[in-house]
Amino acid sequence: MFREFGIPARIEKVSNSDRILELRAEYSNKRNCYISVYAFSNQNEGKTDYDSAVLNTLWFDFDENKDVSKTLKDIRKLYDRYCKPLGIIPRIFYTGGRGFQLNIDFPLEGLNVGKHIKRKMLRDYLLHLQSKYSLHTLDKQCINNSVSAMRRMPYTPYLDKKTLEPNGRYCIPISIDDMENLTMEEIEEMSTKKDAFNLDPYEWQPSLDASKDFLFFICDQLGITYTPTNSISYLLNEINDTEDLVLGATNHLALYRLSPRECVLNMIEKCIRKGHSGHTENNVIATELIHAGWSDDNIASTFKFIYDEDGGDYGWYTNNDEAGYQIRNLRAKGINRYSKNRLIELKICKPTCACAPR
Ligand SMILES: [Zn+2]
Repeated sequence: MFREFGIPARIEKVSNSDRILELRAEYSNKRNCYISVYAFSNQNEGKTDYDSAVLNTLWFDFDENKDVSKTLKDIRKLYDRYCKPLGIIPRIFYTGGRGFQLNIDFPLEGLNVGKHIKRKMLRDYLLHLQSKYSLHTLDKQCINNSVSAMRRMPYTPYLDKKTLEPNGRYCIPISIDDMENLTMEEIEEMSTKKDAFNLDPYEWQPSLDASKDFLFFICDQLGITYTPTNSISYLLNEINDTEDLVLGATNHLALYRLSPRECVLNMIEKCIRKGHSGHTENNVIATELIHAGWSDDNIASTFKFIYDEDGGDYGWYTNNDEAGYQIRNLRAKGINRYSKNRLIELKICKPTCACAPR
């Protein structure tokens, strides 16, 4: 078992905590220090096998260049809407710079999700939570990197990325109480003092409900039926039994899921930033997500995320946050997602893009 240490380039695989502390001592005042979010159990010829990541946490990285208090707003939103109702106690860190990191922990030994779907499901689940809870400052890299993500190392100073000068603040843990009650300025101030390193660790605990929510999401993606009382090991067995089907029979309808293409995700990202999208773009988004196996209501929440207003008469979502007729109509007609050629014509994709032709 090992983690990757980076400055931020990955420079060493570390398999014990003493070595991690040594590296931190060696580099923390010279470079920004990073550590892989996940530990890995396997490497091939010196290369990390990222699919061997032990999935014992969900990691969220919130980042905002101009107004860092927006990231505080987002972690509060994620806490209020997702963590609190499920009784999840997250681990929260202020990075010392432009944002926050938040961990929701699964059981320590990790969820044994098969290698054939681990990376994709983690990515899709984060994407799903991002749009469901309108997390505007959730960093796209943290979603896309999935199992290979690197995080700023707690208890290290934040250095300017160009000059490598310290800004006087450290990456520190924040209690739920402080996250809810302090202002951004107070948190920044707190991070300049090393005594902020001492946060009582007992309040952090793995969440079975978060684990189940993740597994239910995977079941939905794979067309597996389940009930809320199913155990984690039962769900994992059902999920991992799909390996042959997912890898073999690509025509099996329930399992024929296509990952959303990078260029389309970028376009969605752009629409979210603009707070607007055109009708053709909406068709591209809806068909892409239908074919990725998203439910109509989850697709609707992506549109709600873009427009950030009541459903009105647009037909993409209703005032009750359900899918509008446009989505249901595309689904009912079985419209394919847009071909690469068509995406290129629409200037959403480029010939150099690595996405699949269909
Ligand atoms: Zn493309």
